[in-house]
Amino acid sequence: MVTVSDTPLDGRCPEGNIANRWDQRKRDLKLVAPNNKRKYTIIVVGTGLAGGSAAASLAELGYNVLSFCIQDSPRRAHSIAAQGGINAAKNYQNDGDSVWRLFSDTIKGGEWRSRESNVYRLATLSTSIIDQCVAQGVPFAREYGGTLANRSFGGTQVSRTFYCAGQTGQQLLLGAYQAMMCQVNAGMIKTYSRREMLDLVIVDGVARGIVTRDLVTGKFETFAGDAVVLCTGGYGNVYYLSTMAKTCNVTAAWRCHKRGAFFANPCYTQIHPTCIPVSGDHQSKLTLMSESLRNDGRVWVPKAKDDNRSPDQIPEDERDYYLERRYPGYGNLAPRDVSSRAAKERCDAGYGVGSTKTSVYLDFTKAIQTYGENVIREKYGNLFEMYQRITAEDPYKVPMRIYPAVHYAMGGLWVDYNLQSNLPGLYVLGEANFSDHGANRLGASALMQGLADGYFVIPYTVGDHIANRKLTKVSTDRPEFQAALDAAKSRVNAILNVKGTNSAEYFHRALGKIMWDHVGMARNERGLLKAIDSIKSLREQFWQDVKVLGSGEQFNQNLEHAGRVADFLEFGELLASDALHRDESCGGHFREEHQTDEGECQRNDDKYMYVGAWEYQGVGKESILHKEPLAFVDAPTGVRSYK
Ligand SMILES: Cc1cc2nc3c(=O)[nH]c(=O)nc-3n(C[C@H](O)[C@H](O)[C@H](O)COP(=O)(O)OP(=O)(O)OC[C@H]3O[C@@H](n4cnc5c(N)ncnc54)[C@H](O)[C@@H]3O)c2cc1C
Repeated sequence: MVTVSDTPLDGRCPEGNIANRWDQRKRDLKLVAPNNKRKYTIIVVGTGLAGGSAAASLAELGYNVLSFCIQDSPRRAHSIAAQGGINAAKNYQNDGDSVWRLFSDTIKGGEWRSRESNVYRLATLSTSIIDQCVAQGVPFAREYGGTLANRSFGGTQVSRTFYCAGQTGQQLLLGAYQAMMCQVNAGMIKTYSRREMLDLVIVDGVARGIVTRDLVTGKFETFAGDAVVLCTGGYGNVYYLSTMAKTCNVTAAWRCHKRGAFFANPCYTQIHPTCIPVSGDHQSKLTLMSESLRNDGRVWVPKAKDDNRSPDQIPEDERDYYLERRYPGYGNLAPRDVSSRAAKERCDAGYGVGSTKTSVYLDFTKAIQTYGENVIREKYGNLFEMYQRITAEDPYKVPMRIYPAVHYAMGGLWVDYNLQSNLPGLYVLGEANFSDHGANRLGASALMQGLADGYFVIPYTVGDHIANRKLTKVSTDRPEFQAALDAAKSRVNAILNVKGTNSAEYFHRALGKIMWDHVGMARNERGLLKAIDSIKSLREQFWQDVKVLGSGEQFNQNLEHAGRVADFLEFGELLASDALHRDESCGGHFREEHQTDEGECQRNDDKYMYVGAWEYQGVGKESILHKEPLAFVDAPTGVRSYK
């Protein structure tokens, strides 16, 4: 039985006409005068699109910013891997797009499990992001005449995705990075690379600092500030194999959770349909083939089971273009959760292709015939090259083979409309927060959300916290800092002292298998109960048997990894428990017990139309559930159909 808090959680959204709510909130937020801003220090952890844009914007406003990341340079954050594009409701195509349509597509895409007010704000701010990035010099793709080009992503019937070939994240991150570096040069940002945040420091109930470990020297440090802005990305690597960068982790968010920050909707994990399939036990990473490819690529499997002919030998009428068949309204651009399940269904039914029979074709033959190879090369050249390098197959000649893989975390730390967690002074941005995407994120919306949070929301809301609280300076000499420092050190030492026989990698792989098998694309009560038990015993085994060579006073990537795996072993249990408690299907959370005759999600709005935010009670102890009720007035609930 889950213990549920009696008090509903309040997202503190403004009231009134949805289109005016953000303006209303900005009018109500208190300001900090320009000459006072320089008296305040803001700690920004993470330098991806959320953290980079936040650090640059806050420093431009005049705050002192301390910026932290685990990579050797801020511009190596995971955001750099983003390929396909970023959405904005500019309606440059004159194809019926609008702020309202982006809002309603996103709410429907997330299966009515996100906050209306936030999503409307996101859709509104989307247009400013493009202007901001163009002004920074981000080289978006352009039409022959010079106007910005667009393409489509899943779950929409318009073209609103701006892109820089297959390197959108890289170009956007360079924009944010140069804005940051400008402020570094001006003395407003101090960067700390290769620093891992290991704890949050709370003084008098307000987040006032962090504990870090220098990943090169092993030295522990503490930093004090007036607010902590967490932008540490998503937790998809709890599944071990994912499309995310190997360093993506849950550690900073999890340590904040252990200090009292609520963790919301952890069971909403995105599984992306368009990835290079697993080819054996040796892999440590999976590769995304961008959703943008489904603008021109057609997804199919043979109509006959176990058809071993090569794809060019299978005539047109013996192919099943199953997305076009099942979802004629959206075709190959059905949203990710829906397309992933459809691929799994075909493969489970025996129609899969490739040696493992767990992949489907993504075929460009028709597009190449229609537009010519050069046009396709211009649009997707780097993605085709990447595919060829990994698989040794030429996708200009034979169809790509793809299968779903873990890709993105919709869940994260709970935040209110101001992006403040339930811990005053702790703000959470980008993929690290529980975000605006509900139970499923639409393609090209993560970059949009991270940049909206960093460039346009936090610069307003953090000032309100500072102006309202009249914060006094705190020093790292305070006992709260010492206590957090001691806790972080003793956890690292505890890992080193196990001196067991198996590597962190071994435990991470084992955890990933449990998660994928029982908490992956399809979940059921029996499997989830089994997963929870298995995670508990794997965690016990970890603390008796993990082996980390070397010491803590040196560059030691095994130690870093072991620390993150230890946190995943705690977090994985919460993720599975959240999936168990949510006895309905919605978006990326598919409970086999709740499906329609056609294998689609069956929601239970009467019982589960809320954000589920968990309060930590101790390792292995049941967390307390706080429910934030959701209401849908401007985008009324309905059947989520893409037919
Ligand atoms: C292959 C791939 C392609 C994608 N393509 C697209 C796309 O085309 N469009 C789209 O909208 N989305 C895309 N996404 C999703 C999108 O890239 C991410 O959701 C987004 O970039 C996350 O940004 P972020 O700033 O929140 O976090 P990240 O970019 O993950 O940055 C996290 C930062 O936190 C730091 N950090 C983490 N832990 C700690 C710690 N303990 N201490 C200190 N620092 C820490 C890291 O060093 C890093 O700087 C893609 C994702 C993948 C995996």
